[in-house]
Amino acid sequence: MYVPDFEYHAPKSVAEACAILAELGDRATVLAGGTDVLHKMKVGKLAPEHLVSLKHLDELREIREEPGRVVIGALASHNQIYNSRLLQRRYLSLSMAAHTMASNQICNLGTVGGNIVNGVPSADLPPILIALNASIRLTSAEGERTMPLEDFFHGSAQTRIKQGEILTEIVIPDQATTGSTYLKFGLRRSGALAVAAAAVSVQVAGDTLHGVRIVLASAAPTVLRVTGAERSLVGRRIDDDLLAEAGYLAAKASSPRDSIRGSAEYRRNLVEVLTKRALRKAIDEGHA
Ligand SMILES: Cc1cc2nc3c(=O)[nH]c(=O)nc-3n(C[C@H](O)[C@H](O)[C@H](O)COP(=O)(O)OP(=O)(O)OC[C@H]3O[C@@H](n4cnc5c(N)ncnc54)[C@H](O)[C@@H]3O)c2cc1C
Repeated sequence: MYVPDFEYHAPKSVAEACAILAELGDRATVLAGGTDVLHKMKVGKLAPEHLVSLKHLDELREIREEPGRVVIGALASHNQIYNSRLLQRRYLSLSMAAHTMASNQICNLGTVGGNIVNGVPSADLPPILIALNASIRLTSAEGERTMPLEDFFHGSAQTRIKQGEILTEIVIPDQATTGSTYLKFGLRRSGALAVAAAAVSVQVAGDTLHGVRIVLASAAPTVLRVTGAERSLVGRRIDDDLLAEAGYLAAKASSPRDSIRGSAEYRRNLVEVLTKRALRKAIDEGHA
């Protein structure tokens, strides 16, 4: 398995990276950690003439707190997200989602930006970020735009990124949620892709759910928010039957595929169980 020839660029600033991407158009591919790009090049699925590496853009590795939000640079690695004291304190659910991923070697290289832009339905970080109502910043030679992360995906491996754009930051707004969690089922205890997974965030007051977001991985051609299941919970008194009903509705709204990792029926079953358990965990344990 050889990587085909390509020309390598390593710009020193976001502006320089954007200028190179604008000039090269569809002949260039952005390279972050390279865990997907280089694999695709080795197996012949991708043969860009130019690779534009973001490795010198250290400002995009930062995870910081700003008034009203937490900002995660797109180049933050999975291990950075897992080890971040800030994220462990504010949104442990996100740190723990990163901890469920791949081997240490992949987690040292793989970035949150690459995990999002890949657009695959099994990616671990988009569901919990959407449950936390995150938005993303995209920058190109033409300027900057922001969008809710949940609007970024629109089909199997399809995203709304435009030619020449770089995903620079992920923004999690301060929120009224009282808990969140990400539960994933893989075929090994660690480092396995999701056969199915559920991310939830909840806003609990007394014994009632005032707000909830439920987002699924590996349950449809794209990451899937199940708003019908969410609506069934809001304003209702929390009990096991209510959470079981939400699990049932989430499974009903999912459209998983058969694959070597599990049949569609098996995945739907997992969605039902994981949704119910994730809700209970977020309600009882906060952002764990
Ligand atoms: C052995 C192995 C195990 C894995 N296990 C898991 C797992 O458990 N869970 C999981 O979710 N994923 C897993 N992955 C997939 C992969 O590691 C992740 O999706 C990772 O986050 C990709 O990030 P990267 O920085 O390596 O992306 P790259 O390979 O550099 O890029 C991926 C794509 O995103 C684009 N891109 C990257 N960053 C940006 C940016 N900032 N702006 C614009 N475009 C960008 C690239 O052009 C490319 O199209 C695994 C991969 C391997 C090889």
